[in-house]
Order: sequence, then structure tokens, then C-alpha cells
Amino acid sequence: MYNFAYMKSPNFLKNYTIAELRDYVRGMGEQAFRADQLFDAMYAQGIEHIHDIATLPKALRETLEQETVMSAVRLQKIQESNDGTKKFLFELFDGRAIETVLIPSEMVTDDGSPKRMTLCVSTQVGCPLNCQFCATASLKLKRNLFVAEIVDQLLAAQRYTEKKITNLVFMGMGEPMLNYDNVMAAVSIFTHGDTPLLGSKRITLSTAGVVPGIVRMADEKSPIKLAISLHATTNGLRKEIMPIARKYELTELGNAIEYYYRKTRRAVTYEYILFEGINDSEADAKRLARFTRRVPSKVNVIPFHDIEFTNPTGIAAELKPTSREKFKGFISLLQSHDVTVMIRSSSGVDIDAACGQLAFSNASTETTTPLLSEVL
Ligand code: SF4
Repeated sequence: MYNFAYMKSPNFLKNYTIAELRDYVRGMGEQAFRADQLFDAMYAQGIEHIHDIATLPKALRETLEQETVMSAVRLQKIQESNDGTKKFLFELFDGRAIETVLIPSEMVTDDGSPKRMTLCVSTQVGCPLNCQFCATASLKLKRNLFVAEIVDQLLAAQRYTEKKITNLVFMGMGEPMLNYDNVMAAVSIFTHGDTPLLGSKRITLSTAGVVPGIVRMADEKSPIKLAISLHATTNGLRKEIMPIARKYELTELGNAIEYYYRKTRRAVTYEYILFEGINDSEADAKRLARFTRRVPSKVNVIPFHDIEFTNPTGIAAELKPTSREKFKGFISLLQSHDVTVMIRSSSGVDIDAACGQLAFSNASTETTTPLLSEVL
């Protein structure tokens, strides 16, 4: 369906799940426990260079240095918002770039630090789905990210953040269901072992409604959480603002979500951006309540964030944020229909890091350091 630009990955160490890494070191004539030591060094200890892994014999370190590549992303730029949100621009081995956003929660602990630090991770360079409210869509799809490029977003962001990253959402650039295998391999790396980087309940995959991916998560009883970007309650409007709806209409999407719930018994989250005069009426609220109550769920209502920097045309140019009064009224209506509602804040909006704004708008991809591709 989509014209993916496939390419071969360099031999990134972080492409390997633990089982694959054991096979890999066995293939080098080593015992499997060396893979566990390597895994521990990369993820539990956060060691960045193979030659610093003291638990491995020198000869193995030298071979690994010759055959493999440790880091898959290179930090190009960090922007920090007034509200503490950080946006990272990472350069990839082929000179392409992605953005990753770290959002501190507004809720704080007794010592005043954020209760949660949530990392919004990209899964593709660009995106093919062309949602009309999303800046990433303007980039189109360049390629899927490799496992290591997904994993390293967390490790690299953690390196530049004092507080531990506690939650991760696949909600950055790209549609994670269209890079399913690599996303799930990254999940298995994040959640492996006695002291995982993250627990599976702290990881959420957000999809624009790619039904086969939802069914696959259900069949595999995927341990992570599922979120659905809904944004419209009629097929007509959804097709206009989210072209993926031309392939998977609301009935099919709703059935897949029900199937997911029957298989996993896990509640889902819906995301709903409010657009003035387009999807914010009383009828919209009633339809949204009806659709979402089919399974245990909550609805994140999200303010629309400006994407004028992408020079939108057509319906995209008509999208405006709903007024504050209407926003509040819409939430009250949902609550009156027993919907559990969360209001997503506009964290990072001043640095174009809020929901739907990732497209390198403020970020130069010019480098002053050598390109990663030049040093591999
Ligand atoms: S909202 Fe998500 S799925 Fe839609 S175009 Fe943007 S990145 Fe792609």
C-alpha cells in the first residue's frame, strides 16, 4: 500500500533483542552469557563505547568494535520549552533526522519534581498517513526507523536528563503500526530483565487506526498499552482529516478495538483533538461517548496546535483551535455521558514540540560536527 524506502541497517548492536544477541555472540564462537554482559553494559549501565565494557574480554571487544556500531543516533540540538519540555533533534547514520520530545508531568512529588517524565518517541522518518492536522505529514515517509534508532532515542534522551524517564509513548514522528516488528523488538529491549529500562505498563503505542496492527497486538497479547487517534466520529470527516480512514472505517476500527479488549482485557485511550466548528459540536460529543464506551477507555482531549509553519492547504488550512469556552463545554458534555476525560496540556508548544508539531520547524539539520555517516 505504501511506498516504503527500505534500506539495510548498519550492524547496530542495539538492533538485537537479547535472544538475537545470544545467537550473534554464539556465531562468533563465544558463550551466550557474553550477550547478557553486553546487554547489561548497554542498557543497565548505559555504557556508550564498546572498549569501556570491562566485563568483556579484550579480544571480543576488539571484534565487536570492528564488526558492529554502538550508537545509532547523534544529538544535533536540544530545545527547551518554558514549561520544561525538551525537544531533541537526532541525526541518523544516513544523514536523515528525527525528533523526540521529553515531557515532564504537571503533577509533582513532595520535593517539587515531576511525577512522570514521558518520552515521545519517533518510529519513522516522516510519515505516509497524511493526517491533515499534523506537521510530520508534510515530510512524507522517508523510511522506517531501525530498532537501534528507536532504542537509542530513550538512551540518548536519558543521558541529557537528570530525572529518570518513567514513561514512553510511540507518538512521535511516524505511524508505529507501519513499523510494527521494529517497534515491538524495541519494546522487548526496553522491558527485558530484572531491572528493565521501562515496565511494559509504562509504554503506550498510539495508532491513527491501522486495524491489522490492532488485531496483531490483540493476538500477540502485547503487554504495552494502546491508544487510538480518533479525532472524528463520522466516516466523512475522518476520511477528510485522516486519510487512513478511507481504508479502515469506524465500524472496522471499533470492531478491532473490541477484539483487542476481549483478548487483552486492557482499557484503551482515545485521543481527540478539538477543531473549531469541525468536530466540537454537541452531536460530536454524543457520538464520541457512544463510540468510546464500547470498551473500558478514557479520552484525552487535546487542544489543536498550530502547524502554519508547514504552509497547510485545503482542509488543513481551515483547522483552528476550539475556543476555551467550547473546549470546557465539550468536556462537560463527555463527562455527563460518563466518559472518563483527561485534558492533554500543550506542553512544548513554544518550541513546536506539542502534539502534531514535529517536523523540524525550528531545527536546523546542518551540523557542525561530522555526520554520523562520515564516522561509521
Ligand atoms: S498524526 Fe501520526 S499517523 Fe498521522 S501523519 Fe502525523 S505522525 Fe503520521
